[in-house]
Amino acid sequence: MAKDVIVALDMSSAADVMAFLDRFTGAKPYVKIGMELFYAEGPDMVRRIKDRGHRIFLDLKLHDIPNTVKKAMKVLAALDVDMTNLHAAGTVAMMEAALEGLERPGGHTDLIAVTQLTSTDEERMRRELLINASMEETVLHYARNAQKAGLAGVVCSPLEAAAVKAACPGFITVTPGIRFADSAADDQKRVMTPARARENGSDYIVVGRPITQAADPVAAYGRCVSEFLGR
Ligand code: C5P
Repeated sequence: MAKDVIVALDMSSAADVMAFLDRFTGAKPYVKIGMELFYAEGPDMVRRIKDRGHRIFLDLKLHDIPNTVKKAMKVLAALDVDMTNLHAAGTVAMMEAALEGLERPGGHTDLIAVTQLTSTDEERMRRELLINASMEETVLHYARNAQKAGLAGVVCSPLEAAAVKAACPGFITVTPGIRFADSAADDQKRVMTPARARENGSDYIVVGRPITQAADPVAAYGRCVSEFLGR
């Protein structure tokens, strides 16, 4: 299975993004475009970054009735991104509808599911969402649902990647919450180094601030790739 480092472009202006990407004169990093950038700059931002030769993970986390998600995915399919996502909590029917919407001749986008957001803990699940299962049981249950619907994988914590791989063979794991051994955790509570994430079964690591806020982002990206891919 392909393994790669995905750089989170957590910026809200096209100018900032282009200035950042201009630094990469050699390698073309796989990048993640999230809600902030997409809502600020629109689909044109996706086309511009794609035209520069980057692979794109469009992180919009859709969650609505199946028909609406299918239609929205049809629109996103035209952008021809490499990967996009939705919430597994939207049900198997919603995930199946999303896949139908994404289908197109001559193109393919991997669809992955968010299981439980890492900002949600067991206490909140129990009190606010009335989910009485443990975090791991919930994550694995949602992952199995996603696999049943025909999705390609899940976004999860690197701490959960090994369990997801065991429960859902062949599933792609995309994991944020990555930090170098010597860098700040910022607001991430549970972090892992690129090398540990690989050992734990991550296929793609999503890395934001350790690269975007580094004094030398190109060097930080290179370090991340070499630690994660072991080369
Ligand atoms: O800067 P940092 O490396 O913490 O950025 C991680 C990226 O992954 C951000 O874009 C964040 O929104 C995203 N993410 C996350 N935890 C999740 C899902 C997505 O940190 N559970």
